[in-house]
Amino acid sequence: MSSQPIEVAVCVVGAGPVGATLACRLGAAGLPVAVVDRAALPPMEHPDFDGRAYAIASGSRALLEQAGVWAELPLPSCPIDDIHVSDGKPGRPASKLFLHFDHREIGMPFGWMTEARSLRVALNATLHRHPTVQVIAPTEAQVSRTPQGAVIRTGDGRTIHARLVVAAEGRDSPLRRQAGIPVTRLRYGQSGLVCAVAHEWPHHNQALEHFLPGGPFAQLPMAATEGAPHLSAIVWSERDALVDRLIALPDAAFAREVQRRLGQHLGEVRPIGRRWMYRLSALHAHRYADTRLALIGDAAHGIHPIAGQGLNLGFRDVMSLSDLLIDAHARGEDVGNDLLLRRYQAARRPANLAMLAATDLLDRLFSNDNPAIRLARDLGIAGVNRMPRLRRAFMQAAMGSLDAAPPGLARAADQPYLPSE
Ligand SMILES: Cc1cc2nc3c(=O)[nH]c(=O)nc-3n(C[C@H](O)[C@H](O)[C@H](O)COP(=O)(O)OP(=O)(O)OC[C@H]3O[C@@H](n4cnc5c(N)ncnc54)[C@H](O)[C@@H]3O)c2cc1C
Repeated sequence: MSSQPIEVAVCVVGAGPVGATLACRLGAAGLPVAVVDRAALPPMEHPDFDGRAYAIASGSRALLEQAGVWAELPLPSCPIDDIHVSDGKPGRPASKLFLHFDHREIGMPFGWMTEARSLRVALNATLHRHPTVQVIAPTEAQVSRTPQGAVIRTGDGRTIHARLVVAAEGRDSPLRRQAGIPVTRLRYGQSGLVCAVAHEWPHHNQALEHFLPGGPFAQLPMAATEGAPHLSAIVWSERDALVDRLIALPDAAFAREVQRRLGQHLGEVRPIGRRWMYRLSALHAHRYADTRLALIGDAAHGIHPIAGQGLNLGFRDVMSLSDLLIDAHARGEDVGNDLLLRRYQAARRPANLAMLAATDLLDRLFSNDNPAIRLARDLGIAGVNRMPRLRRAFMQAAMGSLDAAPPGLARAADQPYLPSE
C-alpha cells in the first residue's frame, strides 16, 4: 500500500446513510474528502429486497438532490400523500376521534418512502463518482487528533491527514468514546419490528399511524415491486418480550397479528422479505464536537422511531455542517476551526434535543392504556384535526421544514463545546 499520506480537508469515519451523504455533498462542492467504513462500499451491487425503507422528508430529499444521490436511486420512491392518525387496541376498531393530514393543504407530499437498499446503491455509486472523494473500505481507522490537525491510520496501511474528522459510525461511535464525550440514554423497554407486507388493495399513498397500548404501529406506503403490486412498510413498536415472540411466528400467524392492528382497509396482508428487530432507546451526546472532531447522525443522537425522523435529523446535521464547511473552504479558512465547530453544535444540538423530547413525550403519552390518558389524547387528536393552523404546523414539522427548538433550549454559537473551556 502507498506510503504517501493522503491529504484531505475532511475525513468521514462511517459511511452509513448520514456519513456517506455528507461525503457526497462535500464531494459535489469539490472539497477533498476521504470516507472510511469497516463495511465494503462496492460501486455496483444489486441487493435483494429486504423489507426496510426510510421515510425521507422533503428537506432531506433536497439535500440528496444537491449531493447528487437522489438521481442515482435505482428504484422508485413512493410519495406519502396522506397520514391518518388514530388510537385503539389490537383487534378492535380504532377510536372514532382521529387526525388526518392531507398533502393538498401544503401542496406537496409529506415525504417519500425509499427502500434502504435503493439508498445504499445510490450512495455507493455517488461516492465513487465524485473525483475528490476517496473511498477507503472495508477497513478500521485509528485516529489521533491535535489542535494542528488529525491523522488517520487505516487497517490496510494507509495514512490520511485531515483538517477535520467526522464521526458518523452510528450509535456506538468509537470516536465519540475516544473523545470522552458522555451520552444520556433513555431505555424504552420496547423493540421496533420492521418488515414489509403485500396487500390486496392499493394504499393510495396513505400512511397510517395507529397508537396502541404496547407502542405505535405504522403502515407506510411503498412503491410496487415485482410480485407485489400493493406494498407497505410496517414499523411496529411493542414490548420487548412480545416482539421476541412475534419475530419467530410463522408467516400466516404473523400476518394475522399485523391484520389485527392494521384493520381491513387494505384487504388481506402477506409478509414479504425479512423481519428486522431493534431494541429501542434514545441517546444524546453531551457535546457534538471536540478538537478537530464533529459528531453527526446516530453518533450524536438517536430517537424513538415513532415519528420516522431519526435519519432525517441526521440529514439536517449534514445540511448544517456541510454549509459551514463549504463556506469555510471557499474562503480559504481551516475547516476544522473551533468557531465553525461551535456554530455547528449551536445549530443542531438544541433542535435535535427538542425532537428527542417530543418523540419521547409522544411515546409516553400514547404507549399506555390508562383510560383518563386515552380520553385526553383522543380529544387532543380530534382537537388538532379541527385546527387548520396547528395541523399545518404539524405537517411542516413532519416534512422537515421546521426545527421546532423551544427558545429556552437555544444556545449561543459562542458557548464553548470543550469541557476544559
Ligand atoms: C425500527 C427503526 C425504524 C426507523 N425508521 C426510520 C424512518 O422511517 N425514517 C428515518 O428518518 N429514520 C428511521 N430510523 C432511524 C435511522 O435508521 C437511523 O437514524 C439511521 O440509520 C442513522 O444513520 P447513520 O448513518 O448515522 O448511522 P448508521 O446507519 O448506524 O451507520 C453507521 C456506519 O458506520 C460504520 N461503522 C461503524 N463502526 C465503524 C468503525 N469503527 N469504523 C468505520 N466504520 C464504522 C457502519 O458500517 C455503518 O456504515 C429508524 C430506526 C429504527 C430503529
